[in-house]
Amino acid sequence: MQTYTDILIIGAGVVGCAAARALSLRTKADILVVERAGDVAEGASKANSGIVHAGFDAHPGSEKARLNVLGARMYPALCAELQVPFRACGALVVAFDEADRATVENLLAQGQANGVPGLRIVEREELLRMEPNLNPAAVCALEAPTSAIVSPYELVFALADHAALNGTEFRFDTEVLGLTQTESGWLAHTAEGDIACRCVLNCAGIDSARLHNQVSADKRHLTARRGQYDVLDHPETPPFSRTIFQCPTKMGKGVLVTPTVHGNVLLGPTAEDIPDGLDVATTAEGLADVFAKAKLTWPGVSLRTAVTNFSGIRAHEDRGDFLVGRTAPHCWEAVGVESPGLTSAPAIAEELAAAILADEAFPAKPREETAAPYRRAKPFNEMTAEEQAEAVRKDPLNGQLICRCEVVTEAEIRAAIRRPVGARTVDGVKRRCRAGMGRCQGGFCAPRVVDILAEELGLPKTAITKGSGESRMLVGEI
Ligand SMILES: Cc1cc2nc3c(=O)[nH]c(=O)nc-3n(C[C@H](O)[C@H](O)[C@H](O)COP(=O)(O)OP(=O)(O)OC[C@H]3O[C@@H](n4cnc5c(N)ncnc54)[C@H](O)[C@@H]3O)c2cc1C
Repeated sequence: MQTYTDILIIGAGVVGCAAARALSLRTKADILVVERAGDVAEGASKANSGIVHAGFDAHPGSEKARLNVLGARMYPALCAELQVPFRACGALVVAFDEADRATVENLLAQGQANGVPGLRIVEREELLRMEPNLNPAAVCALEAPTSAIVSPYELVFALADHAALNGTEFRFDTEVLGLTQTESGWLAHTAEGDIACRCVLNCAGIDSARLHNQVSADKRHLTARRGQYDVLDHPETPPFSRTIFQCPTKMGKGVLVTPTVHGNVLLGPTAEDIPDGLDVATTAEGLADVFAKAKLTWPGVSLRTAVTNFSGIRAHEDRGDFLVGRTAPHCWEAVGVESPGLTSAPAIAEELAAAILADEAFPAKPREETAAPYRRAKPFNEMTAEEQAEAVRKDPLNGQLICRCEVVTEAEIRAAIRRPVGARTVDGVKRRCRAGMGRCQGGFCAPRVVDILAEELGLPKTAITKGSGESRMLVGEI
């Protein structure tokens, strides 16, 4: 069966969802986002360091440098508007010997050339006063006060919700297999039938070069570069108040130790080139490497409080820069969006949306009124005792604590499922409201989450999956 849309976006990661939102705020045209997984943020956008990079890493003059700095500037207002957890905690890139000092000085010069404000070199004594748990072997560091942390998948959920409230349709479990140009636009071929559109935007992450190569003579190649992490439970006193980087290598920014916006500690990532861009396994060797490198930054590091580990796949374009813009008539793309892609996404989206709507052959009507962002209630675990009592009075389901580790109520789980682009899986609930994110990793609350999902979605419990695909939680009823 063939369906029609004006604008087709392939991929519901941070770039695709930010582009959908940016377009939906400007035009009344029909926008359809197709995603091969079962939810938004199932690719690199859910599995990264969550750093809003200040912009000193990328070479001056590159698209990465330009879009990083522009994107970073947009974050505080964007996260405030969408109510996404964001903290301007700052970052340090630590030098452990004189060779590292040269790297740090280069990063300072590079950052200044890129227009990053507030950068300075901090010497050892001051550095150890700023971060007392840092390895005393540190020599100096680059301080980047504008570096920040964000919840990457919560940002994608908010972008998707806002796009949906402004008319964008999301279609999951739909993989675009190929693209063919037609007289009036493009045909996207999927196993569920063709989708005809006036204009197509390829935001397919690790698969984006395959689609690019179908429509462009300038062939591109992506290398899947996996990054593995350990997540530590939230400590009473965070070991570091800033993100602590080591000096970058040619494979990337190196292993960091950082607080997360929810108070956990993140160690990682590795940088391993792998043949399969969907292989998000973690390995004993990878995690051992993370631990050994984290120990250089934080000699006191221990895995006794590790709650989980995960990995994400970087889409490294072999020429090393982002490829953002027009590929063919009425065909646009964001290819090779590895780090700092999360940071750059808002800027990439604004530029693509403006370019698509400036395409003369695309007569999209401007939108006069837009819907406000979806407003989620203040998380129960962030409320004062008085606020919690009031929340329970208003909705008794706030008195039903489902996730004890993260203090998440039944009302919050139901709200996560009822969002405009709501949760349909146990992991979808976990990422939207944190039920199952804590030290027992859903051991206690997962059965209750399955019950609630089945009830809300009108499905048998045996149909509920952990994540995308066929990962069913239950094999049958007894
Ligand atoms: C280990 C690691 C650490 C990182 N750390 C940071 C950081 O701290 N700060 C930062 O700024 N950036 C960071 N990044 C980079 C950032 O995560 C990415 O640049 C960003 O998430 C890319 O978003 P995207 O939307 O392009 O891709 P994705 O999030 O991968 O989204 C692409 C989507 O397209 C879907 N898709 C693929 N093929 C098809 C198809 N044929 N049909 C339909 N759907 C399809 C996928 O399922 C996926 O959901 C990191 C990345 C990794 C892996």
